[in-house]
Amino acid sequence: MADRPPDQATSFGTHPPCPTLTSHSTKAKTSTDRRTLALLTSLAAFAFLQALAAMAIPLTKPHSSLLIGYISNILAICLVFSPLSTPASAYIFTDTRIEDIEGRRNYLFPEILRDEAVARLNELGKVSDADGFLERTFLSPASVKAGKLIRRWMEDAGLKTWVDQMGNIHGRVEGMNASSEALLIGSHLDTVVDAGTFDGSLGIISALSALKVLKINGKLGKLRRPIEVIAFSDEEGVRFQSTFLGSAAVAGILPISALQITDKSGVTVQDVLKENSIETTKENLFQLKYAPESVWGYVEIHIEQGPVLEWVGLPLGVVKGIAGQTRLKVTVKGSQGHAGTVPMSMRQDPMAAAAELIVMLESLCKRPKDFLTYDGHCNDFRVESLSSSLVCTVGEISCWPSASNVIPGQVTFTVDLRAMDDMGREAIIYELSNQMYQICERRSVACAIERKHDANAVICDTELSSQLKSAAYTAVKRMGGEIQGELPVVMSGAGHDAMAMSHLTKVGMLFVRCHGGISHSPAEHVLDDDVWAAGLAILAFLETHM
Ligand SMILES: [Zn+2]
Repeated sequence: MADRPPDQATSFGTHPPCPTLTSHSTKAKTSTDRRTLALLTSLAAFAFLQALAAMAIPLTKPHSSLLIGYISNILAICLVFSPLSTPASAYIFTDTRIEDIEGRRNYLFPEILRDEAVARLNELGKVSDADGFLERTFLSPASVKAGKLIRRWMEDAGLKTWVDQMGNIHGRVEGMNASSEALLIGSHLDTVVDAGTFDGSLGIISALSALKVLKINGKLGKLRRPIEVIAFSDEEGVRFQSTFLGSAAVAGILPISALQITDKSGVTVQDVLKENSIETTKENLFQLKYAPESVWGYVEIHIEQGPVLEWVGLPLGVVKGIAGQTRLKVTVKGSQGHAGTVPMSMRQDPMAAAAELIVMLESLCKRPKDFLTYDGHCNDFRVESLSSSLVCTVGEISCWPSASNVIPGQVTFTVDLRAMDDMGREAIIYELSNQMYQICERRSVACAIERKHDANAVICDTELSSQLKSAAYTAVKRMGGEIQGELPVVMSGAGHDAMAMSHLTKVGMLFVRCHGGISHSPAEHVLDDDVWAAGLAILAFLETHM
């Protein structure tokens, strides 16, 4: 969803116990250590047997000591050389008893799932409407160019492609049973302004890489149900200030009025579609909606946009749900006056009032327990859930007339409030208004709170999530990672296409670790090996469940 200024959208949730992923280089070091230990043990055994041989001389017949010495030499030679003669590959991966390293590498398809996927992400990251930074908005020239690239890569993966009435790019393979419910995999091809390379694109590219591997293996035509990858035309909502134009149309929740929304230059969504030879009317917009009975589920891979996975040291995590969200606009009206002549005791200053309101909001969201009363609407569970997921932000503030020697007449600010528990979020908004009106009354200023936007939380499907979790686990294990405990389950504080798609079908999401939790910024970064892990996870999911 459009967290407009470049930010670090938050993922939150209780931190799971810290599992560790042993990297290949650490593993190689471990194998070297193991060999050194074996060598030292062998030398000790050799010395011990030699000493025994020497002691045997006065006690036994000479040939006995010679025999012991002879045996000790043979044993020592065998012991010394056995660890060295073992192929190094056997120590690099934890379970490489059967296959050698080359077989393992081929099995993991690094050329497609990592190298080609990373190259494609970089190529897509250069397709921009702006010079010097990445910006691709709904059906802009760069978005159209990006769509053509994605279509080519879909065809390369063996998919049949088309563009729909909202500019979404589809690629589909029917498998063995074209009439059975399809698995949809998607993410968005649009970006914010001055965006990173991975937001949205990673989900599309890693799905296509996994399908390409199936094509090469001859398994694409043997899939038990159709698989369709969708590159959604708009999720960020930058151009029309309306999120999910693409996925909401497919899910059937986009209102017809959306066609008439205008951008800054007054061009409507319908006009933009027409400019791109897409005739979208009220009638065919409605036809875009997928029949729920034709869809099995929706899966989305996305960069985490938060710091949890990096913190636990694992490349992948399963998303439990996407936080619900409310946006408020608060207006505080006071008495405008001269900064030098109105005594402090006689002021009705909306700026000072706004400051107190904002600090109160922070306390409320940091410690909801201290504010909420335990009644029928707010039990222990609800308060606990809020404590772990509630985040509140005042991101925009303005005042009138905004001059250094004037007590302002009016201050307005926004509140962005997100939580996993919808009832809990309502309880917070209720308490927030109570507290705000009390403060405003005490300060003799007038306050108005308007609700600008609401979206309920989405809980990912339990079964689909556990399938994705085991696929991600398999991927990490295949890459040689050691996981102590389970893969982390995280909440998403940012919105995703999965939110819109949850109105159509069950949804499941995997998050991929990103550096520093940074997203919506050119500093956004995902390790090449983590791109690989994402591709392997989808591959494992498709091989096991499709
Ligand atoms: Zn995104």
